[in-house]
Amino acid sequence: MGRESTGEGRAVSPADGGARVGCDATGGAEALAPARVAPPPFPPVPAPLQAVKTRHELRRKRDVMMIVAQGLEKTYTSGGRPLPVLRDIDLEVAPESFVAVVGPSGSGKTTLLGLLAGLDVPSAGRVVLDGQDLFALTEDERAGFRAERVGFVFQTFHLLPTLTALENVLVPLELRGGGRGLRSRATELLDHVGLGDRMHHYPAQLSGGEQQRVALARAFANQPRILFADEPTGNLDQETGAAIVAMLGELNREARTTLVMVTHDHALAERAHRIVRLAGGCIVADEEAGAPAPSADGTDSAAPRP
Ligand code: ADP
Ligand code: MG
Repeated sequence: MGRESTGEGRAVSPADGGARVGCDATGGAEALAPARVAPPPFPPVPAPLQAVKTRHELRRKRDVMMIVAQGLEKTYTSGGRPLPVLRDIDLEVAPESFVAVVGPSGSGKTTLLGLLAGLDVPSAGRVVLDGQDLFALTEDERAGFRAERVGFVFQTFHLLPTLTALENVLVPLELRGGGRGLRSRATELLDHVGLGDRMHHYPAQLSGGEQQRVALARAFANQPRILFADEPTGNLDQETGAAIVAMLGELNREARTTLVMVTHDHALAERAHRIVRLAGGCIVADEEAGAPAPSADGTDSAAPRP
C-alpha cells in the first residue's frame, strides 16, 4: 500500500540522507515560499569558528553523500511573469540508496531530476553530485561528468530510431571511448536484460517493455555511480513495468548504483528505501519505504565495487 499522507512512515534519519520538508504542505503552486532572510553582510563575531564548522560539515557531506542539493530553485518565465516550479529544495541522498520521488503531475519531479542530473541549470542553489559541484563546471565539463558517472532513463525511452538495440547501447560506450571490448560489453548488457535475441532489432521492431530494457542497458553501459529514472514504467503495462523496476532494483544492488526514480505507482515506490514527495515544487514529505536501506556510510557487508 502506498502512503498518501505525510503522517505515516518513519522519517528518514540525517545519516541516511534526507530532505528538509518545507514550503506549504498543501502544495499549491501559487503558495509563495516564505521570504528568505538575507544573510548579514559580514559574519557575526565568533563566526570564524562557525564558518569552519560549516565548511567542515559541507566537506563531510560531500564525502559521505552521493547527492547534496542545497537551496535549489527553478523559475521559468511564462507570459513575461516568473513561474516558480521548484522552491527551496534541500535534499541529501546516501550512496547506493534507492529513492523514489512521487507527487502529482506538474509538481516539479522531472524538473528536479533534470537539475540533480545536471541536465538543466537551477535559478538558485547548488547540487554536489558524487563530490562534484555540478554548476561550478562548464556545460561541456558537465556533459563529460555525466557521461562518466550518470545514467538517465526516460519515460519515453529516447532510443535513437535509426540505430539497432546493440548500436544504441554502444553509443555511450563509444562516446566515452575505451577501445576494444565495447561490442562485447554491449552484448553482455543486452543479454543481462533478456534481449540477447533482439540485438539487431530497431526500436520500432521492439515492444515498449523491450525498448525500455534497451534504455536500461544503455543507461548502465558506463557503470554509472548514479542512475536517474523519470517514470520509467509510465508507458508500460503494469506487469512489464514491475519487471523493469525489479531490474532497476537488481542493478541498484548488484552494481551498487545509487538510484533516484520518479514514479506514479505506489507499489513500485515501495520497492525503494525511501520516498520523497513533492507538491507544488516543494518537498512535503520524506519517509523510509518498504525496502531496507543500505548502511548510512555506504560500507555495508556487500562485496566492494568491481
Ligand atoms: P512533473 O514531472 O512533476 O509532472 P515538471 O517538472 O515536468 O512536473 O513540471 C513542473 C512545472 O513546471 C509544470 O507546471 C510545468 O508546466 C512547468 N514547466 C516545466 N518545464 C517548463 C518550461 N521549459 N517552461 C515553462 N514551464 C515549464
Ligand atoms: Mg514529469
